[in-house]
Amino acid sequence: MTRTELSTLGEFGLIERINQQFVPILPQTIKGIGDDAAVIDTHTDEYLLVSTDMLVEGIHFDLSYSPLKHLGYKAVAVNVSDIAAMNGIPRQITVSIGLSNRFSVEAIDELYAGIRAACEAYKVDLVGGDTTASRSGLILSVTALGVVKKEKIAYRSGAKPNDIVCVTGDLGAAYLGLQLLEREKQEFLENPDMQPQLEEKTYLVGRQLKPEARTDIVYELQDAGVVPTSMIDISDGLASEILHLCKQSGMGAQIFEENVPISDETFLAAEEFKLSPLTAALNGGEDYELLFTIHQSDYEKIKNSPHISFVGFITDDPQSVEIITKGGGRFPVQAQGWQHLNKNS
Ligand code: ADP
Ligand code: MG
Repeated sequence: MTRTELSTLGEFGLIERINQQFVPILPQTIKGIGDDAAVIDTHTDEYLLVSTDMLVEGIHFDLSYSPLKHLGYKAVAVNVSDIAAMNGIPRQITVSIGLSNRFSVEAIDELYAGIRAACEAYKVDLVGGDTTASRSGLILSVTALGVVKKEKIAYRSGAKPNDIVCVTGDLGAAYLGLQLLEREKQEFLENPDMQPQLEEKTYLVGRQLKPEARTDIVYELQDAGVVPTSMIDISDGLASEILHLCKQSGMGAQIFEENVPISDETFLAAEEFKLSPLTAALNGGEDYELLFTIHQSDYEKIKNSPHISFVGFITDDPQSVEIITKGGGRFPVQAQGWQHLNKNS
């Protein structure tokens, strides 16, 4: 029996391998593996949406700088984000935890205070979960249920040539927030008397520790009478997500650097770390903004939105997903060379 290393497949290769082994047989299973949430027909005018994400200590978070309350909030927000990415509204969550005796009752109360705050913010009910012992680290798995009117659902696969590519909020901030937290941690380990110098960096650190799901955009689009032709949430960076969207739509895209939304704070911190702000936006991850496409005729309806940037357009050439730089150069959009099994997913 040969042994194949997981690294030869990578995360997406592994998911694809699992996917091939499970062909849905129920007519109610409208969409299984492969989008931000599964889509289930309930024989009403709405689809049921289901999404799960797991956060593992030492992989997705470091408790030396992630307060448990923020972590609880984030675990819910990242799942709600996947429901929003189907143009859906979240309704219920279940939360499962793996715990060691390292954690006190008060610590778990903090975690759940964050989960409760997120339930209030996104108007969802916690309806169940599971509790188990863990050898050492904290494991947090959240499943979110949501709904979407059938005619409003947005899959990753619906983009058409000439559609406008849209991004909400700004990108790259969460990645730089993480760089700042990591740097403070290293400095603290070297000199435990030092005080953290993060006050000026509240925005970036906040984007890393307490991201928000863009449910507000789902409502905004609804009010404007716009149904995106395709949508995905930006958990792994714009590059990875536009590639997913183009691949599943069988399309290409042109993205203009000058239109990619990057905050001033991100620009300044990128300079400090000698990183390219564009690289942070393209490959940083964990922003939990939405990437979506709209038909050209819908542009007028949302062109003045302060929350939406128009970053490019869809082409009919699936071989070409390009970024056009400020200087007019063009290069193919590339996801991080190696799809980490241990990062952000
Ligand atoms: P997202 O970043 O939006 O959470 P992922 O990249 O984690 O999405 O997952 C992509 C798709 O693969 C989703 O449909 C998800 O449900 C599915 N998936 C991920 N891991 C597994 C697994 N171990 N078994 C079955 N489906 C999986
Ligand atoms: Mg997603």
